[in-house]
Amino acid sequence: MTDRPRLTYAPTHRAATTAVRGGLMRSPHGETSEALYLTSGFVYDDAAQAEATFLGEADHYQYSRFGNPTVTMFEQRLAALEGAEACRATATGMAAVNAALLAHLKAGDRVVASRALFGSCHWIVSTLLPKFGIKTVFVDGTNIVQWQQALSWPTNAVLLETPSNPCLDIIDLERVVALAHDAGAVVMVDNVFATPLLQRPIEYGADVVIYSGTKHIDGQGRCLGGAVLGRKTWIEETLQPFIRNTGPAISPFNAWTMLKGLETLPVRLEAMCRSAARIADFLAGESAVTRVLYPARKDHPQHALAMRQMSAGGTVVSFELAGGKEAAFRFMDALSLIDISNNLGDAKSLITHPATTTHMRIGAEERARLGIGDGLVRLSVGLEDVRDLIDDLARALAATGLARAAE
Ligand SMILES: *Cc1c(COP(=O)(O)O)cnc(C)c1O
Repeated sequence: MTDRPRLTYAPTHRAATTAVRGGLMRSPHGETSEALYLTSGFVYDDAAQAEATFLGEADHYQYSRFGNPTVTMFEQRLAALEGAEACRATATGMAAVNAALLAHLKAGDRVVASRALFGSCHWIVSTLLPKFGIKTVFVDGTNIVQWQQALSWPTNAVLLETPSNPCLDIIDLERVVALAHDAGAVVMVDNVFATPLLQRPIEYGADVVIYSGTKHIDGQGRCLGGAVLGRKTWIEETLQPFIRNTGPAISPFNAWTMLKGLETLPVRLEAMCRSAARIADFLAGESAVTRVLYPARKDHPQHALAMRQMSAGGTVVSFELAGGKEAAFRFMDALSLIDISNNLGDAKSLITHPATTTHMRIGAEERARLGIGDGLVRLSVGLEDVRDLIDDLARALAATGLARAAE
């Protein structure tokens, strides 16, 4: 076990307060709500100020590819919530993952990643990085022996996702971080499913935390966005030059939407987690449902670890229907309230069939290895009344002949 790093940034308020007030930077007009600086560039008082700014001697915004006050407010609020020293926002979650990896790595380096990654993250590790001479190795993230073996070689970066999509596997952050650090690796955690409110990987020694803001942070399905968080020196010296010169900058409008999204994240998440737990329990009582995957349920394979690392089970419930793809399609088509969509973290409840959508491209063999069966569906629980959601699920199970025989 490693010593947990002491956070140099200590938010002085609790999460719900930080979510509303963190990073607030008011203009001389004294606006209540955060201002949206929808501008690509900035002007200088005189030529000398421009020169001083470019020399790094004056504190002045230059160009929104490098920085923008609305974006800064979003970054500082998210960093405060995460307990991270610094943050850079990006145009999408994938831009964040790509920037973190490519900024850090070079030809000849080695990466170890958990196999159960978001589809495009899997593609970056399996296909893009090797093109540039970076060696990549996948492990089963829940198997500590595989981590030990893979990390018995010098390694430059570890990328993992916990809970994972769509099977909600939990990876032991403390143990993997200790192994990774012994191998010399920087640990990058894709924390999208947990959000900074349910799990703070930095407290377990992770070096970099990555978000798709598109999911719970916006939370209302409006904008794409992402963020990378970590130590100030790494963000400023390693990540920032990459972002500044390659341009995955977030639009100030999208950053503003996400900044305002953070204000309601604690209340949204609490309601969504509560509903997800009730839905998981309901599904577990249905005979047509052969398996329910929800970290806060005692029958989850890593329940104890999940409850140690996370403060709640999350907003996604995955479950397997008897009857494979045909049953899953009939069931999804019979839902009248819950929408079919590959997105998640939205106020609207959304359901997807991973084998034919989000995880179609990885192939049948890799799906089998990840436990993604043809009868598996992933439900992202939204903010509707949970009784209406359970009615919709029950009606769809009945309509497709999948309901309990007694009903
Ligand atoms: C959605 C998602 C991403 C990618 O984010 P985008 O904003 O869609 O680019 C990465 N990782 C996980 C776990 C995700 O759910």
